[in-house]
Amino acid sequence: MATSLESVTRVYGQGSSSVKALADVSLRVGDAEFVAVMGPSGSGKSTLLNVIGALDRPNRGRVVVDGQDIARLDARAAARYRRRSVGFIFQSFNLLPRLTVLENVALPLMFEGVGQRERIRRAAAVLTEIGMADRLGHRPPTLSGGEKQRAAIARALIANPDLLLADEPTGNLDSNTATTVMRLIADLNRSRGQTVLLITHDLQVASYARRVVRMRDGRVIDGESEKEGVHEAV
Ligand code: ADP
Repeated sequence: MATSLESVTRVYGQGSSSVKALADVSLRVGDAEFVAVMGPSGSGKSTLLNVIGALDRPNRGRVVVDGQDIARLDARAAARYRRRSVGFIFQSFNLLPRLTVLENVALPLMFEGVGQRERIRRAAAVLTEIGMADRLGHRPPTLSGGEKQRAAIARALIANPDLLLADEPTGNLDSNTATTVMRLIADLNRSRGQTVLLITHDLQVASYARRVVRMRDGRVIDGESEKEGVHEAV
């Protein structure tokens, strides 16, 4: 789903102690693009993702996703946008420990009013697609890090979102497992045509993306347009 930020500014706090997390950022991400966002800690990467995911609202500027300015949505419409259009993947997985893998993945569909049988069917299908068919009944504490992240990715995919937003998805994984998870995300980007924005500190991880956007001090300093910074995935 094509996404563009137009002169987006996000300021936290007020007066002399205020911080410009995003300072007049403009960025276009095309349909089915895979973009890695890199930059030092505090440079505004998470704020950028949160603004695109309607978890946070800019003070100024437009965030246009598939033709609509999501910065202007009211709370209810923003929640609907998050449920239907965005899949979030976090470093810390955020799975519910008492539910099985299947139940964790099926959960978002409950808020969409999907019946139980259909929820289970769809969750099992997504888990099978990403190679977790033999872990459906496991609870998260019994899974390896890579399996937890696969389960979290399945949960992010369950509503078939157009946009996947991943904040350091390999941050808690060893390098072999990180490679497996990145191959999975790259495959999903190709096979499902989902737009992926992924924050990472790791150049190896970033090499799976087709474009690297670099941030510093709340600004995009490189990779702003679709033609710049394009390189082949390894
Ligand atoms: P990154 O993801 O690159 O580490 P962030 O987007 O998390 O950067 O943060 C950018 C800047 O905004 C930092 O200086 C951070 O301290 C500040 N910031 C982020 N979130 C908040 C918040 N909720 N309240 C106040 N300041 C914040």
